[in-house]
Amino acid sequence: MFQPSDSLPVSQLYERYRDFELVVDSRLVGQADTSLFFALAGERRDGHGFIAHLIGLGVRNFVVASAQYGQYLNEIREAEELVVNGSGPEPVNLVVVEYPMHVLQQLAAHHRRQFDIPVVAITGSNGKTIVKDWLVQLLSAEFGVCGSPRSYNSLIGVPLSVWQLKKSHEMAVFEVGISQPGDMDTLWGIIRPTCGVLTTIGTAHLSNFASVGELIQEKLRLFQGADWVLLPETLKSLTSAIESLPSPAKVYTWSGNGRTGLRVDNLHLELSFPELPDVYLDNARSAAAAARMLHLELRYLTAGVSRLLPLKNRLEQRTGRDGGPIINDSYSNDFSALAAALEFAENQDPFGCLTLILGTVQPIPGLATKLATLLKGRVDRLLLVGPANEKLRLDFPGKRLYPSVDALTRDLHTLSFHGETVLIKGASYEHFDQIADLLSRQLHRTTLEVNLAAIRQNLRLYRQQLPPSCKLVVMAKASAYGSGALPVAQLLQDAGVDYLAVAYPEEGKELRSGGITLPIMVLNAEAYSYPLLVDYRLEPVVHQPEQLRLATSLHLPVHIELDTGMGRLGFLPSEFRQLVIPPADEVGQAFVSLFTHLAASEDPGHDAFTRQQLAQFDHAYDDYLARAGSPVLRHALNTNGISRFPQAAYDMVRLGIGLYGIGDEGLKLHLQPVLTLTTTVTSITTRPAGATVGYGRLGRIGEESRIAVLSIGYADGLPRSAGGGRFAVRINGHLAPTIGAICMDMCMVDVTYLPEIQVGDHAIIFGPDHPVELLASAAKTIPYEILTGIGQRVHRIYLGE
Ligand SMILES: *Cc1c(COP(=O)(O)O)cnc(C)c1O
Repeated sequence: MFQPSDSLPVSQLYERYRDFELVVDSRLVGQADTSLFFALAGERRDGHGFIAHLIGLGVRNFVVASAQYGQYLNEIREAEELVVNGSGPEPVNLVVVEYPMHVLQQLAAHHRRQFDIPVVAITGSNGKTIVKDWLVQLLSAEFGVCGSPRSYNSLIGVPLSVWQLKKSHEMAVFEVGISQPGDMDTLWGIIRPTCGVLTTIGTAHLSNFASVGELIQEKLRLFQGADWVLLPETLKSLTSAIESLPSPAKVYTWSGNGRTGLRVDNLHLELSFPELPDVYLDNARSAAAAARMLHLELRYLTAGVSRLLPLKNRLEQRTGRDGGPIINDSYSNDFSALAAALEFAENQDPFGCLTLILGTVQPIPGLATKLATLLKGRVDRLLLVGPANEKLRLDFPGKRLYPSVDALTRDLHTLSFHGETVLIKGASYEHFDQIADLLSRQLHRTTLEVNLAAIRQNLRLYRQQLPPSCKLVVMAKASAYGSGALPVAQLLQDAGVDYLAVAYPEEGKELRSGGITLPIMVLNAEAYSYPLLVDYRLEPVVHQPEQLRLATSLHLPVHIELDTGMGRLGFLPSEFRQLVIPPADEVGQAFVSLFTHLAASEDPGHDAFTRQQLAQFDHAYDDYLARAGSPVLRHALNTNGISRFPQAAYDMVRLGIGLYGIGDEGLKLHLQPVLTLTTTVTSITTRPAGATVGYGRLGRIGEESRIAVLSIGYADGLPRSAGGGRFAVRINGHLAPTIGAICMDMCMVDVTYLPEIQVGDHAIIFGPDHPVELLASAAKTIPYEILTGIGQRVHRIYLGE
């Protein structure tokens, strides 16, 4: 039987565990016997609950919280008895401490002090990750550099990054984010940067801070004691604040415009940057200037800068030629990114059979063993691609090795992927896209790009509008407004929203089957579907007394909707008053929330009506409270409600379309566009005067015209009513109007005055520079209908963060 050991001084723990891997995520365990698992109690998952499982995998060392581990003691003991027999492997060690996270941080801080090398800390509101990645890329031409994986920039991510420091490193670059006052001192203590880079200052996370000033002050504390800090010239005004820090750093600035030239302090450098969008250019300048400050030789800098590419950072899902999903993920190629991609693929896998096509994984100590553990039991077939994998001694039964992408593509026609989900995971420079193309039912044709970073940003913005205690339900109905329920739900779960809502039980089932654990309310569940709700832990909205009775007998938690003027579902306030609501039972049945839905929250012309709805709702709630005595969650606001009637936020709000950066009059200017629908030009022909175009000969050609065919039709979601010149697509920055009727799978546009347009060009149906409202109004409808009408066969591409 194991002995919990009381907390040891950090130095002793360090001696004992310095060669161990620190793990906080049970899915990322590599070499089990040298892993030290920290049981962190998160908001949604308690790490202690994974200990028994990890013991089964061979993990023996755990840091646990004194207040929590007792609850799990029985299952831990049982797990231990199962594995520790007479001849037994190592016994289980529980290091019992007050706060495991603090110990994680202290160990990392201790580790940091063993190194006397330049350590760069990068912070700022935007661009941290890309500046960090580019700086590491530039410096690596000359130095051994340790960089944070992905965007490991939090109170947990930073210690894990710092722990990766090895003797062979000559420099380190760590990314730092803060969301709460006080975080920075902790992070500073772990990193102790010798130099700093500030990217931008914006208003993200501002709601948690008293003022912009406080946020900036907090960020700048990261730089105390550093030798120097680098900022863009535009933030020069922060100099005095930095110079008044306890032990002040020297401030340097950079400036530059366009694609050539960069001034760092007073030095002018002749550099030529690749063609990048403007925001990226500033990030590239920031990384280049920092590399220069770190004495990267000029020839490496010049060569490196010209090769900077926006990291593709995207995950694409399509239907494969053999029927199963093909997931192509070119997010960063480190081990943790692979683990995340695998989890995603497992969740999307309808067959329980997964093939992994794997390119180069960033080398780390013990990679082969870690990979073997990660893939075991999850991946059914493994195809390894590329020279780096030839040397990797990976133990995986039946694995196949291809020396290059070409070698695999030559062989693809001999392989079958029936009844399988395929995950393709290569570094962006490896060009695995052609594998995905060959395995797909169709090539890139029409795609809906979903920018997950923008969703996260919009979510933050809405949170800032709301009081901190106000809970957030996100509406994930209709495939999350067309953008794909699971990927969006996973992001929302990760971002800590409180609830999801769907319209029908099947939608909830799909989310559950995909690994979503958040509570899910179902707006419109008929009584016969209630057993399904029980199976999938879904919570019905009830509108009839019979539903309430049935829910009670099945111990289902319920939400009650009041109809205060929407005229759709819900009890009238008078009916609600008569309703007998059973008290909560021990098994789970409870009346969780009372809500109403606003009929016209976006329309000032109906504000009087909206206020009347809210007044009725208040009244009904007060009345309920007087009757029942114990409060329930109360909610009324949808997107426009949140921005236009913030005083009625109550305990919770229900965010829908605004998450996608659309449809919110109040916050329009601050939201980021999330969705881009593009298609391709498949043919261009010149038609003589008098010819007609398309069905019903509706398109008439007055003078000789160039007509382009696009691969999108009403089956893909381009409404037929957008034909006949009522709508224009955007091609290479120009508008091309539709001509004739939209067909089922194609449409025609007039490009007579756009001679430079060619077959293969992309046409934007809507996107950041071509708002969806244009299409919606041309088709005499609203953006909601456009989004949810995007066809199933349109590829969804998820841009990462
Ligand atoms: C769809 C829906 C919402 C969200 O509406 P948006 O206008 O998209 O924000 C909120 N509540 C209910 C009951 C809904 O059906």
